[in-house]
Amino acid sequence: MNYPIARRASSLSPSLTLAIDAKAKSMKAAGEDVVGFGAGEPDFDTPDHIKKAAADALAGGFTKYTPSSGIPELRQAIADKFQRENGLAYKPSQIIVSCGGKHSCFNVILATCQEGDEVLIPSPYWLSYPEMVKLASATPVILPTSDKTEFKISPDQLRAAITARTRLLILNSPSNPTGSVYTPEEIKALGDICVEKGVLIMSDEIYEHLLYDGATHRSVASFSQAHYDHTIIVHGFAKAWSMTGWRLGFLAAPEPIAKAIDAVQSHSTSNPTSFAQKGAVAALTGSQAHLPVWLAEYAKRRTYAWQKLNSIPGISCVNSKGAFYLFPNISGTGLKSSDFCSRLLEAEKVAAVPGIAFGADEYLRISYATSLANIEKGLDRLERFVRGLRR
Ligand SMILES: *Cc1c(COP(=O)(O)O)cnc(C)c1O
Repeated sequence: MNYPIARRASSLSPSLTLAIDAKAKSMKAAGEDVVGFGAGEPDFDTPDHIKKAAADALAGGFTKYTPSSGIPELRQAIADKFQRENGLAYKPSQIIVSCGGKHSCFNVILATCQEGDEVLIPSPYWLSYPEMVKLASATPVILPTSDKTEFKISPDQLRAAITARTRLLILNSPSNPTGSVYTPEEIKALGDICVEKGVLIMSDEIYEHLLYDGATHRSVASFSQAHYDHTIIVHGFAKAWSMTGWRLGFLAAPEPIAKAIDAVQSHSTSNPTSFAQKGAVAALTGSQAHLPVWLAEYAKRRTYAWQKLNSIPGISCVNSKGAFYLFPNISGTGLKSSDFCSRLLEAEKVAAVPGIAFGADEYLRISYATSLANIEKGLDRLERFVRGLRR
């Protein structure tokens, strides 16, 4: 039968990162010795005090609907986080808790963009951004970058891309997939242009806490009242607290935008899971002692992987300053990214995500959210694969 699939759904490509991760996991389940560099999630467990808070809430019967945009206690804890860590004053009514940072992004785009609007997306981009823009019937406009600029757009590039139709700029620093981090000065320069031109900024700051080599994070909302008024911050619990499966994200927005998003969410998902929200309160108000331990481990893996990748002929890699990804340039191997990744998986059972998924076909994404032993084994195999190409 010819099923009627709506254009908004049929024009989407399913998430390639989730697909590769699933393929690697199923090969592993079938007993194959797969090394996975595809993970977009920490390999550490959620800290115990967070799990306990959710378990206690569940046992205590906290199992009913909550206010659609989140429990007051959590929205307050999030507002406190912004004040404490970012110097930003938000009322709890400006905070919306959603079913994952991904859902927060989608809410923002759905509530602010429509047909005829253009959304500026620097590439390499998190692969869901352009698809979300299309779901909102708006038009993604890609601003390409390369390793020569550490994958950052320039103020001139931004200015040249803005038209009368530009509604939103999406910023993601630290970045998935490249690990690059804008300096405060760079962020301010981009924010200044958006303020001048009346363009909103969706600032995805979910990797805020994962920084290396003394890199600092500064939210674009923090430079002036005007910057604040033009910015919606998206964040979540997935990365710094390793809560990917909990499905909890949040955003902070100017009041009218928060109100619009509240309406969208109240008619789509309603509240994020009740007892998970209690875990999130513990994540924000409890001990953060896990974080330096994880960061030290990530930093060790990053240095090893970066050096090893650069020692392989045909591959060059700028070091990342944040998140848990490296984005090596593979153009010296003569292969495009999809071909590279499918042959690598076939020949050496190593799963990496082709750069094409993020709009950059000359690169791979290597996640170092996996043990150092795995990284050593996987990159040895990757080296053997690349050297084999030359014979
Ligand atoms: C992981 C991630 C998110 C949010 O993920 P959720 O699991 O939906 O919370 C948002 N943006 C980027 C860039 C990410 O990598």
